[in-house]
Amino acid sequence: MEVKFLDLKKQYISIQEEIDAVIANVISDTAFVGGKYVASFERNFADYIGTQHCIGVGNGTDALEIALWALELPEGSEVIVPANSFIASSEAISRNALKVRFADVGEDYLMTPENIRAQITEKTSAIMVVHLYGQPADMDDILAIANEYDLKVIEDCAQAHGAAYRGEKVATFGDIATFSFYPGKNLGAYGDGGAIVTDDNALAEKCRMLSNHGRSSKFGHVMEGCNSRLDGIQAAVLDVKLNSLEEWIARRNDAASYYLNNITNPLISLPKTGAEKKCVWHLFVIRCSLREELAQYLKTNGVQTGIHYPVALPDLPAYSAHVQETGAFFASKTAHELLSLPMGEHLEQEELEHVVSLLNRFQP
Ligand SMILES: *Cc1c(COP(=O)(O)O)cnc(C)c1O
Repeated sequence: MEVKFLDLKKQYISIQEEIDAVIANVISDTAFVGGKYVASFERNFADYIGTQHCIGVGNGTDALEIALWALELPEGSEVIVPANSFIASSEAISRNALKVRFADVGEDYLMTPENIRAQITEKTSAIMVVHLYGQPADMDDILAIANEYDLKVIEDCAQAHGAAYRGEKVATFGDIATFSFYPGKNLGAYGDGGAIVTDDNALAEKCRMLSNHGRSSKFGHVMEGCNSRLDGIQAAVLDVKLNSLEEWIARRNDAASYYLNNITNPLISLPKTGAEKKCVWHLFVIRCSLREELAQYLKTNGVQTGIHYPVALPDLPAYSAHVQETGAFFASKTAHELLSLPMGEHLEQEELEHVVSLLNRFQP
């Protein structure tokens, strides 16, 4: 049996008629960049998340960069970001001439409130929360810290479309939040795509202008911006897929529950989460000190896996000149143990059973 890590082809086939039809419509309407398909998706996505505004942009990395740009943080100030994330999170900080300040993660691989506190200096201006793997961060404590030190909060929700903390969707807690619609994300386009969401009218307008050459009208450039816009085909695809997102999340939850209830091998640590969190399981990441052997054994038996992320951010060559004491970070010390199991709405019961029975039989 072959168990895929992700199966975008199977997902496409399940919605093929609708997808093919909307793509044909975008083409016959020549609504290629901006236009009614983008406006429709922006409205529907803002309603789904529960924010006033949604601005479609070119990708999730641009969404982070533009959101930080719009916040106008003091030049050279520090933004706290988790030590385990995709590099886009920290990249967006440096690209805005701000300083990256890594904070360690806890057992759930989310930045803990105590570790955030430990990284606050007189130069700190913001906290970038990453709801990694589709798990909501501890927003009550993080917002309390932000309040105490008067810091802005940006939520990187690239892996957490629809995740919720105490009944409220992530992306509604901070000053501004961003999403990626990279094809492999829980809500993925058929190319690159991203979005910024916020309740702040002025910030929304600023992001809209920055993402479109600082325009207020066709040639009315109020400021310099950049070109990062969602295109019509991506928006139309996303609008169709948004209708299935909750069903897909439910299937991911079923798969995660099956893993959590049935993996019993003491060599494997399972992800930890809390009752106050609705996880959307973008990734299901286990820990095993024999990670390489386990991955090879699963591969030999037809099961694809992934690693998120093989190297903690502070240990990447990109940060070799970064001057911050991060030597004892849990994120660095345990990166070699992480293994992402197959996860997605594509998984069938017999595939889950196959993966679990392999895992439970694994031994050195
Ligand atoms: C995917 C991802 C991004 C970047 O999104 P792109 O659309 O690929 O630019 C940012 N942050 C996190 C945590 C991600 O997983």
